[in-house]
Amino acid sequence: PQCFWCPARRLGRVTEVFRTPLPGSSVAGPATDPDLDLWRNLPIAQQPTWSEHADYSASIAELGSRPPLVFAGEVDILRARLAAAAQGKAFLLQGGDCAETFDGATADKISARVRTILQMAVVLTYGSSMPVIKMGRMAGQFAKPRSSNDETRDGVTLPAFRGEIVNGFDFTPESRAHDPKRMVTAYNTSAATLNLIRAFTQGGFADLRSVHSWNQGFMANPAHSAYEQLAGEIDSAIRFMDACGADFEALKRTEFFASHEALLLDYERALTRTDSRTGLPYDTSGHFLWIGERTRQLDHAHVDFLSRVRNPIGVKLGPNTSVEDTLALIEKLDPTREPGRLTFITRMGAKNIREKLPNLVEKVTDSGAQVLWVTDPMHGNTVTSQNGYKTRNFDDVMDEVRGFFEVHDELGTFPGGLHVEMTGDDVAECLGGADPIREEDFDNLYESVCDPRLNHRQSLEMAFLVSAALKK
Ligand code: PEP
Ligand code: MN
Repeated sequence: PQCFWCPARRLGRVTEVFRTPLPGSSVAGPATDPDLDLWRNLPIAQQPTWSEHADYSASIAELGSRPPLVFAGEVDILRARLAAAAQGKAFLLQGGDCAETFDGATADKISARVRTILQMAVVLTYGSSMPVIKMGRMAGQFAKPRSSNDETRDGVTLPAFRGEIVNGFDFTPESRAHDPKRMVTAYNTSAATLNLIRAFTQGGFADLRSVHSWNQGFMANPAHSAYEQLAGEIDSAIRFMDACGADFEALKRTEFFASHEALLLDYERALTRTDSRTGLPYDTSGHFLWIGERTRQLDHAHVDFLSRVRNPIGVKLGPNTSVEDTLALIEKLDPTREPGRLTFITRMGAKNIREKLPNLVEKVTDSGAQVLWVTDPMHGNTVTSQNGYKTRNFDDVMDEVRGFFEVHDELGTFPGGLHVEMTGDDVAECLGGADPIREEDFDNLYESVCDPRLNHRQSLEMAFLVSAALKK
């Protein structure tokens, strides 16, 4: 009989250990399941015209050979968290740029954004007395749907800007040309962003006590005196926990998930991998992916492709969404009615939400599906300012949030989350707020390359207002 400790035997055991896949890791290279390519035979909206480009195949192959950005095990954890939210036991906070940019992936901007989301989350946790799931529109939010394929300026027509994963923002023929190599830059930028997010949220930056102390800066502004009482209550709650000997070690770290609109299917397909544990395909470009209002056609490519990956999926629903389409989306994307699988992100507009949302929610509830309902109070409230900027009024945004809560209150369903375009920086893109942004601020402080975002102060103000509403 072979000696257990003989070197050959030991070596065998070691190789075996290294061959055992890590939990939640994925098989190298893109998943090979042929169903993942059925979308290629379907109509598809909002895609670049680059399939004949000399760099197309090499870019796709390069993405396919890179490591996953997120792991299947993390995606499963998120699905469980979203299931709790769908059951009324957690609240989702999802925020970030309308369109991330490559140059915008700096340590300062990423930390300011993560910081603002953590600050908002503390305030919301207190108001809701529930865990808040923190999620960035970050580390992959590079592709944008557009209302027109072209843009004309002073008689010159060029392709529209489709997000930096496709072309550049500058209005020149070189910059606006569709370039598939940009997908690789988007992957690299996402990897760097995620690396920093992971470091910040696991390395002590997320300590509940410091996050709360950052809110003191917001409170120091006299314009925010209306929120003093709530801030004071949070302060006492944290001091009380501290005095009781709460485990603040555990509160130094937090989960933080990455999400983006899965618009560019070339990119999403190349990053889809087979999970080594379950053999199922996961889109490893982000934890949570959503389908936009312009690409949610039932028999089109986006719904087909996303129906075949295991990630939790969101769908944006605008004011003209029919009950029929909504129920058919559930049937396609969540046929087994698994809580956490499907999130509906409604973006009706403040004027429409009280009229349009109730019927959808009622019919979905009647169908027996347990979806998570989230409000996006941004996209139905976009207007153009007198001086020509795309903007949103803080009051309209808050009115849609209030409408969302009212509708769910009345129906006895759970208003499960908030999806916002925001930044941690001191920009001027949305009008109003307690320390108001005015149109004349736009010329100096408008930075967004796509839709207007709430700035740092407006984001926190929203968190305080929602928190106060949740507490009632
Ligand atoms: C967005 O989230 O930036 C967006 C384009 O949203 P929607 O699909 O709801 O218009
Ligand atoms: Mn947007």
